[in-house]
Amino acid sequence: MPNLWRGETDDEIRAALEVRYPSLRLARPENRRVIMGAFNVQHTGHFLGGFQVEVLLDVPDELGLPTVREVGGRIPRMPERHINDKFGTACLYLPEDLAVRVREPLGIIEFLDGPVRNFFLGQIGAEMGTPFPLGEWGHGADGVKEMLTQLLGSDDVGTCVAFLELLSRKVIKAHWPCPCGSGRSLRDCHDGVVRRVRQRLPLTTRRFLLERARKHFPEGQTTRNRP
Ligand SMILES: [Zn+2]
Repeated sequence: MPNLWRGETDDEIRAALEVRYPSLRLARPENRRVIMGAFNVQHTGHFLGGFQVEVLLDVPDELGLPTVREVGGRIPRMPERHINDKFGTACLYLPEDLAVRVREPLGIIEFLDGPVRNFFLGQIGAEMGTPFPLGEWGHGADGVKEMLTQLLGSDDVGTCVAFLELLSRKVIKAHWPCPCGSGRSLRDCHDGVVRRVRQRLPLTTRRFLLERARKHFPEGQTTRNRP
């Protein structure tokens, strides 16, 4: 599993928040580390809105990044708004997508400036009737399917899993059967797709995607064409 949080010390986090997010502070309730306060969304110098948040530094998500909760009750607790439960846990991103886009672990400010800000900006958009999320993926398995379709060029989850099984290998031979099921060898079929993904994503990320695809699509598991 990738770990995308750099994991700063308390002092580093306090110092960084003071400069960039003065409305947030690091608290230590019951010896847990939680960033609390108002997350204010600015856009080109304008204040767009604020959300009461808790950033749980000791509760890592699938990518090792802190769990974020909206605790002020401003966001309706419904899956369409990417809020997961009655605790207001925010579904900030599609883990599969972020794992593909982020190469280096994020510092806490990069995390707040990036995924967290995008999430709340999207929420403000949703309140104004803009479809949410803006140009982003669907929730859960739907989003994973969209994202894999774009990455691998197939909208069949079984085929995507077959591609990821191949891509999770250290060594791939061009004479092996293509995972698309055409019956041709990789060399004469989807070699280009496989090469491109191998170049773009490290093995750990490819294996993470396989693990996640299997979890989301247990029916898509396949051993077909396995060399
Ligand atoms: Zn093929």
